[in-house]
Amino acid sequence: MRLVLLGPPGAGKGTQAERLAERYGIARLSTGDMLRAAVAAGTPIGLKAKDIMARGELVPDPVVIAIIADRIKEADAAKGFILDGFPRTVAQAEALERLLAQRGLKLDAVVEIKVDEGILINRIENRIAQMQARGEQVRADDKPEVLKQRLVAYRGQTAPLIDYYQGKGRLRTVDGMPPIDEVSEGISRVLTKKTPSEAKASPRRKPVRKSGRKTSRKGSKASRRPAKARKATRPKRKAAGRPKTRKTARKAARRKARRG
Ligand code: ADP
Repeated sequence: MRLVLLGPPGAGKGTQAERLAERYGIARLSTGDMLRAAVAAGTPIGLKAKDIMARGELVPDPVVIAIIADRIKEADAAKGFILDGFPRTVAQAEALERLLAQRGLKLDAVVEIKVDEGILINRIENRIAQMQARGEQVRADDKPEVLKQRLVAYRGQTAPLIDYYQGKGRLRTVDGMPPIDEVSEGISRVLTKKTPSEAKASPRRKPVRKSGRKTSRKGSKASRRPAKARKATRPKRKAAGRPKTRKTARKAARRKARRG
């Protein structure tokens, strides 16, 4: 299973990504976490990203694309992954598609976690309070003024991905406002349901004619068995009380008429 989680900062992508990774036994790939680790380790990428992240802006596409290109090659990503925070621009989405196509893979679904922007500031403030209470270091970009810039980046650069993936028939939207468990249930539901375009590509039922017979038996269980085998297992009609079809009923009526 290969998934993308989309949503504004504070939508709950990280929490849900963690749960999904556990449930499906797949890797959680968070570009935010990878970049923060690079900043903490003082690597060349970290040095490049540090100030950009602290301002709430997006790190340049080539940098994050290179990180993901390497990361999806690792062994733990072979059985599937959930991308949290990537792609964040249409250019990143196109690069991801190319990277997957090179390995004969594609995304299974893109889950958009939809939330009212008004609650995002509240959520981030709660996160800061909880981290402080646990004695953890608060993220450099978890400040109200930086959050505003992160939202600007989301609206301008990331939100267009909703239309992008909708157009590809991959998008599934989930309400991110209820409590965490309910959002998780919502995600499970949309992941087991087909999107309208998937349903169109593989209709569950064949259209049925007025007479009740399917328009085509091609692909049905019965037609896949050889004719001989089908005949052998067909229940034999009793000769005497045999239910008449319209044709045999007509024949019988004609015979009766001839007999007088
Ligand atoms: P959130 O979703 O809460 O805003 P993340 O942890 O996903 O936070 O990302 C934190 C910051 O890391 C972003 O504001 C941005 O500066 C940088 N970043 C993460 N992922 C990407 C990406 N795919 N492209 C560009 N920048 C990114």
